[in-house]
Amino acid sequence: MTTMPAATKPAAARATVYGYPRQGRDRELKRAIEGYWKGRVTADALRATAAELRRANWRQLAEAGVAEVPTGDFSTYDHVLDTTVMVGAIPARHRAAVAADPLDGYFAMARGTRDVAPLEMTKWFDTNYHYLVPELGPDTEFTADSTKQVGELTEALALGLPARPVLVGPVTYLLLAKPAPDAPADFEPLALLDRLLPVYAEVLADLRAAGAEWAQLDEPALVQDRTPAELDAAARAYRALGSLADRPKILVATYFDRLGDALPVLAKAPVDGLAMDFTAAAAPNLDALAAVGGLPGKRLVAGVVDGRNVWINDLSRSLTTLGTLLGLADRVDVAASCSLLHVPLDTAAERDIDPQILRWLAFARQKTTELVTLARGLSLGTDAIAAELAANRADLASRAGSPITRDPAVRARAAAVTEAEARRSRPYRERAAAQRARLGLPRLPTTTIGSFPQTGDLRAARADLRAGHLDTAGYEERVRAEIREVVSFQEEIGVDVLVHGEAERNDMVQYFAEQLTGYLATQHGWVQSYGTRYVRPPILAGDISRPEPMTVRWTTYAASLTSRPVKGMLTGPVTMLAWSFVRDDQPLGDTARQVALALRDEVNDLETAGTSVIQVDEPALRETLPLRAADRAGYLEWATEAFRLTTGGVRPDTQIHTHMCYAEFGDIVQAIDDLDADVISLEAARSHMQVARELAAHGYPREAGPGVYDIHSPRVPSAEEAAALLRTGLRAIPADRLWVNPDCGLKTRGWPETRAALRNLVTAARTVRGELPAS
Ligand code: GLN
Ligand code: ZN
Repeated sequence: MTTMPAATKPAAARATVYGYPRQGRDRELKRAIEGYWKGRVTADALRATAAELRRANWRQLAEAGVAEVPTGDFSTYDHVLDTTVMVGAIPARHRAAVAADPLDGYFAMARGTRDVAPLEMTKWFDTNYHYLVPELGPDTEFTADSTKQVGELTEALALGLPARPVLVGPVTYLLLAKPAPDAPADFEPLALLDRLLPVYAEVLADLRAAGAEWAQLDEPALVQDRTPAELDAAARAYRALGSLADRPKILVATYFDRLGDALPVLAKAPVDGLAMDFTAAAAPNLDALAAVGGLPGKRLVAGVVDGRNVWINDLSRSLTTLGTLLGLADRVDVAASCSLLHVPLDTAAERDIDPQILRWLAFARQKTTELVTLARGLSLGTDAIAAELAANRADLASRAGSPITRDPAVRARAAAVTEAEARRSRPYRERAAAQRARLGLPRLPTTTIGSFPQTGDLRAARADLRAGHLDTAGYEERVRAEIREVVSFQEEIGVDVLVHGEAERNDMVQYFAEQLTGYLATQHGWVQSYGTRYVRPPILAGDISRPEPMTVRWTTYAASLTSRPVKGMLTGPVTMLAWSFVRDDQPLGDTARQVALALRDEVNDLETAGTSVIQVDEPALRETLPLRAADRAGYLEWATEAFRLTTGGVRPDTQIHTHMCYAEFGDIVQAIDDLDADVISLEAARSHMQVARELAAHGYPREAGPGVYDIHSPRVPSAEEAAALLRTGLRAIPADRLWVNPDCGLKTRGWPETRAALRNLVTAARTVRGELPAS
C-alpha cells in the first residue's frame, strides 16, 4: 500500500472537482428557469436562485474538505453556450435579441424563438449531456465578455473559499464548433485560433485581477484522434497563453480518454498543470506519462474517481495509482475523472434502494468524500484513512459477493452462447422471400417508428396511477383505449404495418429496465441531459434476467383489433446500456450479452404469440462509438453481436426491423449491415434522403425506410413533398426494398399534425406506387 516516499516531500495533496451538478436538491434550477420562460419568475428571482444554488454547492464542497472549488462551471443552460457568450461569438441572427436583453437573447440562442432558429444541439463527447454547437465563420469577430466568469469567481471568493475558474479551452471550443450556414464549404473553425487567443488572454487577465490563483482550461477534445495540424494548434495555443505575463496559473484539464499524442504537446507547453483521466484511460495515461519523463515543475491533477458512473471507488487501487504518480510531477492532486455534472447529486435522497446496495453507489456528494479521503491518504499515509479503507473494502466485497451481482443461471446461459445463436438461421434472400409470402405487403410499404403522441392525458393517467388515484385496472383500460384509437386510425388511413403506439411507456429504456431483474431505478437520480431537461438513467447493477414477458400483451391486444400485421416494439441491448449507468465490474460486452438474452426471450415470445414483424430500436448505436478510432472495432463487435443475439432466434418468415435516428452514419454503415436486420428505418427527411444514397453506395443489401417526415417540428409535410422524397429515395434503393415511414417516433408530436402528416405519407406512397413499372 501507499506510503509517501521519504526522499520527495511534495506539498500535501488536495482534493478538487471540475464541476458539480447544477440543478439543486429538488431541481430548483429547472423550476426557476422554466418559471422564467413562462413569465412566472422574474429575471432577478432566477438570478437569485442560481446564485443560491452555487453558494450551496460551494459550501457543501468546502465542508466536505475540497480544497479548491470550481467556479464558472455553473450554467442556466449549457457551459458551451456560456463560452460562446464569453468570446462574443453570437450568431448574426441572434445579435439583436442578445443586445436587447442578454438573458432572453441567451435563451433564444438555446431554444430559438418564433422567428429565429436556435443553435444546433449535440452530445458532449460520448456522454448523454448535450451542448449547443458554436457557429463560426471566416467573419466571426471575437470579443471578450468575462462577466459571468468573473462574477462567479467573485461570489466564491467572497465566501472565503479558494476557487478555481473552469473554462472550456480554446482548442476544444473551436473543435466543437461548426461552420456557420453562410461559411464557405472548406472553412474550418480551428482557423480562427489566432483570433480567439487574445480573447482568452483578456478573460484570463480579468480573472487574475479578480483574484484567481489558478484557472482551468478544459480540453477534452485532445483525447480524441487529432491530426498533426490540430496538435500543432494546441501547442500554439498553450505556448501563447502560457507566455502571457498577466495570468493565473493555467491547469489544462483532459478527460474521457487517454491523451495519446497530445500528452507530449501539453507536457512541453509553458502551462502550470495538467489534469488527466486515470479511470478508463489509467494504463495508457500512466505509461505515456512515464514515457515523457513526467511533468517536472508542473502540477498533476489525477482523475482517479470515475466522474461519470455511479459506483464507489476502489480506494486502495486509486491510492496505488496516485502513489505511482507521485514521482512524476511537482505535486499531485486528486480529482474525479471529469465534471460531476454527469452523475446525480446524492445517494442519501434514495429511499427505495436497499441500504446494502446503496452502499455500493457514489453520486456527486459521495464522490467528493472519496476524493477528500484519497487526498488525505496520499498526504498522510494509509494509516490516516484506515477506517475509510476498511469500510470501502467491506462495501466492495459485499458488492462482489452479492447474489444480485452474480446470478449463476444468467452467467451459465451467457457463457454457453454459441456463434450460431447470434445468427438468423437462413440468409437474407431466403428470409425476404418467406416474409413476402407471409406478409403480402405492397411495394413501398408504409409503417411508423412505434410511438404515437404521448398526450397530457396519458401522462396524467400514469401520474394518477403512481399517486394511487387510479388503480392498475383503470390505468390499463386507459392504455387499451389509446391502443384502439391508434389502431383504428392506422387502419382508416391505410398504413400497411401497424404499431400499438407505445402508450404504456414512460421512456423507451426505463420501461424495460423496470421489468428486468438486475436493473435499479432511482427516485432522485436526475442528470442534466440538456437545458432544463433532466433524466434519471436506470442503473445496470446486477445480472440481468426477465421474470416474465414485458410487451407481449400490448402487442397482441393491438393485433386482436386488426387483420393487418402489428409490429412488436423493443429497445435494443446497446441502447439499453447507452442510456443507463453501466456496471464497472465486467466488460460492457458481457453486460450487453445478458441484456440481449433477456430481450431475445421477449422477441421469441412475441413471435410465438403470432407477431410477424418485430422492431428492435438501436438509436444509441452510433453515439456510444468510442472516442478513439482504435477502440471502435472492439465496440462494434460486441454491439452488433448483442443485436444479433436479440434477434437471431426467430423464424425466417418473421421480419426483424431496426431503427436509428441520425442522419450521418457513414462511419458505422458496415456495422449497420452486420446487424443483419431485414429492414432498417433511419432519419433522412431533413437531409433529403442522403442516407439512402449512403446505404446504396455501401451496397446495403436489405430493406430500408429513410424517413420522409421530419417529426422534430409540428410542420406537416404535404403528400407531394413526401412523394418527391420517395422518388429521390427510389434513385438509390429499388422499389422492392424501400419502405415509407417518418424519421422517428411520434411521441413528442400532437395528434392533429400526426393525423395530417401520416395521411399525406400514405397518399404519397400510393401515388409513387402508381408510377412504378409493374413488377
Ligand atoms: N420506437 C421508439 C419510438 O417510436 C423509437 C424512439 C427513438 O428512436 N428514439 O418512440
Ligand atoms: Zn428515432
